[in-house]
Amino acid sequence: MANETRLYGIPASPGFGIGQAFIYRKNLPVIKRQVVDNANKEIARFHNALNNARLEIAELRDMIAGRLGRDEAELWTAQLMMLEDVTVIEATADRIREKKQDAASAFQETISQVAETIESSSNQYLKERVADIRDISWRVIKHIQSVDPSVLHKLPRNSVVVSHDLSAADTALMSARNISGFITEVGGKTSHTAIVARSLEIPAVVGIKGVLQQPLPGTTIIVDGTRGVVILDPLPQTLESYQQELKEYQKHISDLKGLRKSKPVTLDGRRIELSANIELPEEIPSVKSHGAKGIGLFRTEYLFLTSSQLPGEEEQFNIYKKVAEKIAPDPVIIRTFDLGGDKINGHGFSPEANPFLGWRAIRFCLDRPEIFRAQLRAILRASAFGPVKIMLPMICCLEEITQTKALLDSIRRELDEKQIAYDRNCQLGVMIETPAAALTSDILAREVDFFSIGSNDLTQYTLAVDRVNEKVAKLYDPFNPAVLKLIKQTIDSGHRSGIWVGLCGEMCADPLAVPLLLGLGLDEFSMNAVSVPEVKRMILKLRMEDCRNIAAEAMEAKSALEARTILSKFVLNIFPDLALICALE
Ligand code: PEP
Ligand code: MG
Repeated sequence: MANETRLYGIPASPGFGIGQAFIYRKNLPVIKRQVVDNANKEIARFHNALNNARLEIAELRDMIAGRLGRDEAELWTAQLMMLEDVTVIEATADRIREKKQDAASAFQETISQVAETIESSSNQYLKERVADIRDISWRVIKHIQSVDPSVLHKLPRNSVVVSHDLSAADTALMSARNISGFITEVGGKTSHTAIVARSLEIPAVVGIKGVLQQPLPGTTIIVDGTRGVVILDPLPQTLESYQQELKEYQKHISDLKGLRKSKPVTLDGRRIELSANIELPEEIPSVKSHGAKGIGLFRTEYLFLTSSQLPGEEEQFNIYKKVAEKIAPDPVIIRTFDLGGDKINGHGFSPEANPFLGWRAIRFCLDRPEIFRAQLRAILRASAFGPVKIMLPMICCLEEITQTKALLDSIRRELDEKQIAYDRNCQLGVMIETPAAALTSDILAREVDFFSIGSNDLTQYTLAVDRVNEKVAKLYDPFNPAVLKLIKQTIDSGHRSGIWVGLCGEMCADPLAVPLLLGLGLDEFSMNAVSVPEVKRMILKLRMEDCRNIAAEAMEAKSALEARTILSKFVLNIFPDLALICALE
């Protein structure tokens, strides 16, 4: 019997899908550069195609709005805005006029230039927008040439779509055909395709290089979007076990959906705040649909990373106001720019030997008061429209807080003078993500209204392990006793000063961390929205006394492995099904 083939990629959207392979190659229009006689007529043809593409995207937006709600459809509003981009439109028209070039090749060259600039950026988030940009260009060119090369209408139901790349629009269109899942050769977790797949609950694995080279036609495929595994031609026993897993998963998901409105309270009555992390306002529908109460971390630096210019006060105010209004009456914690480190993209940054230890986050903001002031003013103004809190990243010493407070005082005076409304009780908190901040948390706690532990960076800085370097990835472990001691110390200092303490790193969504953090007394858990229902389910079934006992035991562990072993025994005893849902080592 032939063997099955297992391929490993990035788990982009959880769940399991089983179906027949459908190879999707976008038939890109063939474009041959041609000379035109009448440039004005060609420019008119281009504008006509732009209009048709706009209508098409608007239709797609309305389709998604009908299925998932208006907020969910905002991605397509952003795409519509790209089609209004004056620089791109004018550059294309100039090419047609000056070089007497045909509209299709002129537009393609303009878009290729934009895409190349973005592709060469070091920013992963931006790179993942390229598929959307190419999709837009494909749409416009299709209208210039009056052809429809789409094969999506022929897609059989329950297929597993295999493609080099997919745009968010492709994903949305495919969902209407009830596909079982999709696999792409490129892409990452934060691509819009992945975001759309998660909100439409389509299992997906991305980043499987060379999958299109496999013998795919007629092949049955299992997409394991939870673990990031794809199985081609599964053996009967693999198929059977996945069918069973799929059934259990579907039941699990429907049970979790039933929890959306229940409050996260432990069996013995301790209420926990469960909130979500967002990078972009477009994620708010997902925050709500997963039952999170508010936003525990809004990573505002992404507003910088997606635009070629620094957004000014007004632009930021409009975004923060919209987020505050949409999430109200729940709060949003707006973190001031955490630029630098692995999130550098021009804007005055020059390469540094040690960017994670360099000019980043609060250090950059305090050195560039004109940028910091604009952001703080925008946040304060937005606080008049919903519960908004301010949070400072990468704090290492008291002065960084006192300087920011002085700046905030002067902004408040300015707003008072101009009679501009803001919330006078707007809370100020800091991230505890450096050992320095954790070790001096007793001093810092007297200056602020809350702490949020950034376990991602706290682990990196405590263990001296670069969080994006795969060569040292095995050393990166938030369950290392050194990190656990700093987390405990931070929670204790916060509580002694009467302030609340949250945690907003990836650790929060780890099932092993839930009883530990509860037992240590954490007040707020903030994580990616998709993980909220699972963590809520755990909280509902846990008892504080048991959590305190197991946390005390885990704190005695001499290594990360020992702490993990203690916690996984405890967790699997109460939640045996978790062995299926998330691979516990
Ligand atoms: C963290 O460091 O844990 C955190 C939440 O911030 P970021 O991942 O954005 O650095
Ligand atoms: Mg951080």
